[in-house]
Amino acid sequence: MSKKHILLLHTGGTISMKENAAGSVAPDGANPIAEVIHIPGVEARYTVKEPFQLPSPHMTLEKMLVLREEIEASDADGVVITHGTDTMEETAFFLHITLNTPRPVVLTGAMRSSNEAGADGVPNLTAAVKTAASPDARGKGVLVVMNNSIHSAEFVAKTNSGSLDSFQSRNSGPIGTVLKTGPRFFSTPSESQAFAITKLNYRVPVLKAYAGMDDFLISQLASCDGAVIEAMGQGNIPPEAAKALVPLIQSGFPVVITSRCENGIVEPVYAYEGGGAALKEAGALFARGLSGPKARLKLIAALSAGYKGELNRFFL
Ligand code: ASP
Repeated sequence: MSKKHILLLHTGGTISMKENAAGSVAPDGANPIAEVIHIPGVEARYTVKEPFQLPSPHMTLEKMLVLREEIEASDADGVVITHGTDTMEETAFFLHITLNTPRPVVLTGAMRSSNEAGADGVPNLTAAVKTAASPDARGKGVLVVMNNSIHSAEFVAKTNSGSLDSFQSRNSGPIGTVLKTGPRFFSTPSESQAFAITKLNYRVPVLKAYAGMDDFLISQLASCDGAVIEAMGQGNIPPEAAKALVPLIQSGFPVVITSRCENGIVEPVYAYEGGGAALKEAGALFARGLSGPKARLKLIAALSAGYKGELNRFFL
């Protein structure tokens, strides 16, 4: 059997950093993870690229597009991207909704830098490569592999700022696990739309609702291309905020509602002022179980693909 061809894209993050004597973590010259090109137990050949080396809070949509182009240009059987954990779920989701390929694309990173006790970078890279090299991972969309768990890009979130087990799947669990012999899948995520994006220069902020929220932030939105509101509970906002938001939505400005709850699915249930049903009546879009940052990426992708007048095809 011929060796699998794996494209390894290194982009930075803690997995590429070192802890110094003072205990701070930062890049330190060469990327230690880029030197790992033999993964025991995997028969593969690698193309290794480092398009950039960034802490992931420095990630942008334009850089996500660079990754998408690298993947599309490659004939690899599977792709592994090492990435900072802070925005890994956003890059994974962006690729999930813009790539049209059955090939496995797997993101991984590390919660501990390369020279810290219990560093998880090499074990995570190993599990990610095993997954990307497996035929069982084909057709499952973009995946995040951390701590031997396999998550769909649609649901995965960094849920803990420091724990090795930080990555969890919203509203569900991992779709598989990585054993010594390779990945074992429990389920297959439903297929997602691959948006044919053209440009990305849309300004779409994410606002989080809070008790007593008024029109202050909402009144800044008029110059944007759309907005995501992380509303309360099933999709409700306070009345003073609603007084400003409802006319904006009625004017055709795209507003996507998500929940600030960690789990659950937004629905237009409550008909009181600011309630989800009242927002829906005005024309708000509901992002079902997506988090705020992912709903933002989906709105931008839909706008970029030319669906401005048909956004309700992609939201509730
Ligand atoms: N702040 C780091 C980053 O996202 C955290 C990490 O990689 O785990 O780049």
